[in-house]
Amino acid sequence: MQVYYALYVNRENQTVKKKPLFLITLGYFALGIINIHLALTALICMALPFILLYKSGKKQWCHGYCPRADFFSLIKAKGKGKKAPSWLISPKARNGILSYFCVNLMLITTSTWMVALGKIAPIEKIRLFIVFELPLVLPQLVELGDVPQAITHLAYRFYSVMISSTLLGLILTMFFKPKTWCVVCPVNTMSSRIQRVL
Ligand code: SF4
Repeated sequence: MQVYYALYVNRENQTVKKKPLFLITLGYFALGIINIHLALTALICMALPFILLYKSGKKQWCHGYCPRADFFSLIKAKGKGKKAPSWLISPKARNGILSYFCVNLMLITTSTWMVALGKIAPIEKIRLFIVFELPLVLPQLVELGDVPQAITHLAYRFYSVMISSTLLGLILTMFFKPKTWCVVCPVNTMSSRIQRVL
């Protein structure tokens, strides 16, 4: 537990480059309104932390480039808020969230494949935490031509993942110290494991 708390404290004290990275987070959600297929840019955000980690052996993404962490820092100033309960930042919680994330990715891959094969209809809706469908139609300011249904399905699924994880992080930020989300963030958990074998 000490190790995880240390990680938590370190993140509190990290010096994030003073660039308005949070705009990337807000811009991402705006892109989904311009055209949902732009939500596939989430793949870049998912890959970059690991590319940087592989190149440097350090969590460079987390230490200076993560737009989401910058967004959460904006919501709550350093030092504000109470410490998260130990169960929430425990190894079990970290593993639980990582497992949820992996299951989510597996479902996205499988369902996209099934849509491509014409076995299921695409889900062109936002779903929070895999199952809760939001009762809203995302406005589309720019229409693209004929895009394969599987790509549209994939884009909605990535947009849903990004909204769900940002929402979860926001809730943690509002109730506890800023960057509590970072302790349980799947990118952090995976990066720590990869670092051990690099
Ligand atoms: S732990 Fe997650 S949210 Fe925090 S800085 Fe790293 S990638 Fe961003």
